[in-house]
Amino acid sequence: MNLSELVDTFELMEATKSRLALTDYLVSLIHNTPSTIIDKVIYLIQGKLRPDYEGIELGIAEKMIIRALSCALSVDISSIEEAYRQTGDLGDAARKIISSKENKKTTRFTVEHIYSTLEVIARTSGAGSQELKVNYIVELLNHSTSREARYIIKFVMGTLRLGIADYTVMDALAISFTGNKSNRKILEDAYNVCSDLGTVAKVVATKGIEAVKAIQITLFKPIRPMLAERVRTAHEALSRMEGGVAAAEYKLDGERIQVHLGKELYDVDNNIRDGGNSSSKVELFSRRLENITHQYPDVINAIVSSLKKVAKEAIFESEVVAIDPQTLELRPFQELMHRRRKHEIDKTIEQYPVRLNIFDVLYLDGDDKTSLPYNQRRKILERILQQVATKTSDEVNKKINKNKHNSSNNSNRDILENNYNTSMIQLIPQTLVKSSEEIEKYMSSAIESGCEGLVLKQLGSIYKAGSRGYLWTKLKREYRSELADTLDLVIVGALHGRGRRVGKYGALLLACYDHEADIFRSISKVGAGFTDIHLEDFYKKLEKHKIEHVHPRVDTIAQNMDVWFEPSIVIEVIASEITVSSAYSAAMNSIRKGYGLALRFPKFTGKTRDDKSPEDATTVEEIVEMYKDQIRKFN
Ligand code: ATP
Repeated sequence: MNLSELVDTFELMEATKSRLALTDYLVSLIHNTPSTIIDKVIYLIQGKLRPDYEGIELGIAEKMIIRALSCALSVDISSIEEAYRQTGDLGDAARKIISSKENKKTTRFTVEHIYSTLEVIARTSGAGSQELKVNYIVELLNHSTSREARYIIKFVMGTLRLGIADYTVMDALAISFTGNKSNRKILEDAYNVCSDLGTVAKVVATKGIEAVKAIQITLFKPIRPMLAERVRTAHEALSRMEGGVAAAEYKLDGERIQVHLGKELYDVDNNIRDGGNSSSKVELFSRRLENITHQYPDVINAIVSSLKKVAKEAIFESEVVAIDPQTLELRPFQELMHRRRKHEIDKTIEQYPVRLNIFDVLYLDGDDKTSLPYNQRRKILERILQQVATKTSDEVNKKINKNKHNSSNNSNRDILENNYNTSMIQLIPQTLVKSSEEIEKYMSSAIESGCEGLVLKQLGSIYKAGSRGYLWTKLKREYRSELADTLDLVIVGALHGRGRRVGKYGALLLACYDHEADIFRSISKVGAGFTDIHLEDFYKKLEKHKIEHVHPRVDTIAQNMDVWFEPSIVIEVIASEITVSSAYSAAMNSIRKGYGLALRFPKFTGKTRDDKSPEDATTVEEIVEMYKDQIRKFN
């Protein structure tokens, strides 16, 4: 398949906002794609090379691309920088320069060739790798047309965002391979379990829809998380639960982690180990399914020295929280951000210790547990953690007794320390509740323990991967004050700052997500709640998302922004109320004709939701619900 075919379709896709048109373009692209490379084409459409959890990223620095362009086109660096300044995008700059040298010799690159070169670039590391990467890029640019070069640069920089939602891709796959869009549900179920749209595409293309149904949970491939709906009152939470009874669990405010525990099947040379020689392997995945194992080596040690004793293979859902090293009390969510550092990890572990709180089991020793009811999964967890506690205390006592006569205090201290490490893993506190009073009481104890509130879970509910619903509901402390909840909104524009904020942004234009239309709709400008450090940080972070005009997936009435951004960064805000407004497009006409909804007195809470993609932002429907709740409350 020629790269030019992909480029033609990408250009058409970039030029439309219509989801129907996008689906049509995708269907015809899929039709022309050989099934042998359908997975690769799907990854490229998603702007990646492999599923997120593999962590294969291109993200080549601007400077290197400029160098490669200069070398390939025999143009000096300053001219490229000038074209970059003018266009605001290196891909566009390359296109502009190359099209002015039209008689350049081009090659008909295939998609296979481009993909494999990109893969080599992504995987090249170590000494001299930068030079090698530049050489590969030069080679591609030397022989590509100006339109192809534009996309090649976007690929290598990791900035290709066609803005096509996963479910649009699944619609197109369902239409293409089954002739029936409603089969998207089957593809979606498989995707929720394996988090790899390329693989789902390949299976449906080569083996058909029945084979997609057979896709199962696989260790070390993250499962898309089940999420909770918010409720305002204990009464509402219970009214949503079958039989008026629920399991109330503490809602800890940390980072969600999916723990995969199994065996390392390969040795350092990637050869399969023999059974007797296999060692433990633990991997941790974030809410966005990124592999974050490297951030928590202490958690890994704790898992190996505790859970590994009672389970050979398992997948758990958990919340990791920062704790005070002296008092072991919970610390704010922000402290976990220090764990993202790549250097001096030992020091960070010491300064910012954590605890892993397990709240679900999805897989255990060969069995998928997601279709068991909640209360059975909880029983399994209780049994596992009880076994861990018993084994650990037996071992500690045995070792201390053995050491009684002949050993130093030091070895006993080591044993106790090891015990402390294993208690780093705990089961999330839970109780059964049947009345609002019981919920209120448990809520108070959760808040006193430093939690955000409660998650109330239906006893008979299965684990529904990738879905948000009322089988789990969340009741937070903030719900009693101001607005029902904080909102997670996407930054889509900004105004330059004045006075003390000169040289930074003074206010950010925020948008919520319209799931149906796959569009971000403006809801407010926010200028409060930022420290100088936040302001500097945002200025830097937003730089790479700057665009010339309103992004095609953004719907805004306010046009007077100084800067526009592609929807990328999600921040958390709190507000005093939601009001109708003719200045913002969120929920336009749904409450009053000619009016949308806006936030009154919005304030940044200090949390950047790096763990959320723009499509995970608060939705228009949720905002309409919050508005209606507010009206009900005031009446
Ligand atoms: P929030 O913004 O409130 O953290 P979210 O959109 O990240 O919510 P939700 O499903 O709405 O995700 O809320 C549940 C989140 O709360 C989970 O993703 C998890 O990180 C966290 N959490 C803390 N304690 C629990 C628990 N006991 N059960 C489930 N999730 C919990």
